Amino acid sequence: MNKKEDNKKIKEEKNKGGFICCNCGEWVSISDDIGTAHRNHCPYCLSSKHLDKEFSGDRASECGGCMLPIALTFKKEGKDKYGKERKGELMIVSECLNCGKVSINRIAADDEEKAILSLFNNSLKLGEEKVKNLSSQKIDIIKEGDKKDVFIRLFGKGIKKI
Ligand SMILES: [Zn+2]
Ligand SMILES: [Zn+2]
Repeated sequence: MNKKEDNKKIKEEKNKGGFICCNCGEWVSISDDIGTAHRNHCPYCLSSKHLDKEFSGDRASECGGCMLPIALTFKKEGKDKYGKERKGELMIVSECLNCGKVSINRIAADDEEKAILSLFNNSLKLGEEKVKNLSSQKIDIIKEGDKKDVFIRLFGKGIKKI
């Protein structure tokens, strides 16, 4: 593709909501494929821009800072009949570099597995203080013992032993 066509393509994608990642600088295109139409984070490094204020998609924040992924968590699905917390889908926990706001995001179908796995390792390395702080905001960071559940969500049940 020549440069002119390239620019045209970028313009088209920009109209659909494409953006340049605030962290790694990659162009993030938005396609109409399931799971990416509402993409708000970069599939390569999982960063996003701080645009939402109260809830995902409200676009009410004026911060605009870069939100870096810091850990993984499970979506809370209430308690099972034994009173144990149910683990829902895997979510990305991000923190705004500018204002420190923490938010959780769904993982998209085309997010890089590598990036998610390195985030898994990051989660285990978060300081105790941070984990406590997040827990007080009702965000429970995954632990070493959650590895199996993380892998099942990433690769399905038919995976070989880890
Ligand atoms: Zn990125
Ligand atoms: Zn912010």
